[in-house]
Amino acid sequence: MRQIVDTTPGARVAPWAAVGRVVWPLWVALGAVACLGSATETVPVADPAALPSPDTPDDASGTLDPGAPAALPPDRIAIALDIPAGSSFGEVVAPWGLPGGPLREAALEHHDLARIDVRRELAVVLEDGVPEPVGLRYAVDGDTTLVMRRDPSLDSGWRVWTEEVAWTIAVETRSLTIEHSLWNAGLAAGLGAADLARIAAVFEYEVDFNTELRAGAHLGLVAEVLRADGHGDRLGIIHAARLENDGRVLEAIRFVGDEGEPHYYHPDHSSTERAFLRSPLAFGRVTSGFNPRRFHPILKRARPHNGTDFGAPTGTPVRSVASGVVTYAGRSGGHGRFVKVRHDDVYETSYSHLSSISVRKGQRIAMGQTIGAVGATGLATGPHLHYQMWRRGQFVNAMREKLPTAENLPSKHHAAFDALVERWLPEVPRPGHAEE
Ligand SMILES: [Zn+2]
Repeated sequence: MRQIVDTTPGARVAPWAAVGRVVWPLWVALGAVACLGSATETVPVADPAALPSPDTPDDASGTLDPGAPAALPPDRIAIALDIPAGSSFGEVVAPWGLPGGPLREAALEHHDLARIDVRRELAVVLEDGVPEPVGLRYAVDGDTTLVMRRDPSLDSGWRVWTEEVAWTIAVETRSLTIEHSLWNAGLAAGLGAADLARIAAVFEYEVDFNTELRAGAHLGLVAEVLRADGHGDRLGIIHAARLENDGRVLEAIRFVGDEGEPHYYHPDHSSTERAFLRSPLAFGRVTSGFNPRRFHPILKRARPHNGTDFGAPTGTPVRSVASGVVTYAGRSGGHGRFVKVRHDDVYETSYSHLSSISVRKGQRIAMGQTIGAVGATGLATGPHLHYQMWRRGQFVNAMREKLPTAENLPSKHHAAFDALVERWLPEVPRPGHAEE
């Protein structure tokens, strides 16, 4: 549980966002180095710990809808709670003397709190001089906050409503020179964790931002920037992006096809997507690579390392790198909790040492679907993901494998897409572009 801001009556209450939990410790760790970063007009956030979770950009404040009950008055403070992976809503609020069941029931018409998301912010509201919490706030998503307030006049004892954030949108450019990590450069450019996740997602099939960015890499964007009173800026739709890294230039332009889903294509209409993700973790660091002749740290003898290890905190979601069918889900010796997926006639992947498993054997899963969470079950010195890939039954290095690509843009869309390329691409900042 995180700490209280200031309980002095009349003291200025810290903005809601400032009570945000540290949800991505990994990024915080990566961000520990100084940055020669880059440039926008926005003010950099100095403290990574103050950044919001990826899906709850600093928008949990309650001030926005003039019709809704107002933000916290000065004698109230909000305290963000830790939500340990696998814990229930009732368990999280019980230490505050709050009844999980009745609260859930009171909130049900707005949101089912049985499905609280560890990445989102849940906070209790305290009032000066009142021994028990007077309310609860939960960031249902980036645009909506569920608010609960004690109200003895109601049967349930709780008044419940949601507050929407009213954003204004402008299309702007961003220019980032990456000296140490995307995280550092993003901070310098005033971008938050959620923004960086969106940017990484544009290139996620082609570049692993954790391992493949080189010093001096440059990223240029044309994107919507969302603003709301009392909130940090936040990136919306990324129209076009250009990454210059390690002697390679990647350009990606967004296009919404027939099925209404946005995809990114190169200017030559080839897809930026692959049938496989580059990495089973959205963010994680390779701590031990594929090595058929490695000395095993626990067994103290030579033993091939037929996979790639990613360091990440327990509970970090693990994604299937491609669609497929789950062929194993359960305990498996030194692998601990283990999931194996068959993707097609050629490829299989597996995920070891999981703390929890969220799929069943025989289940059909989509690319990017969460199959479990990072843990340290089985033979593991600490929390990490051991990730293996087979091509026709033989171990291969997943980080080096040339994986199949997705379909290119159908020719009937070429004209419409070319117009977008012409509109956005010249706007995308390039290296050396005035970074003021
Ligand atoms: Zn391993």
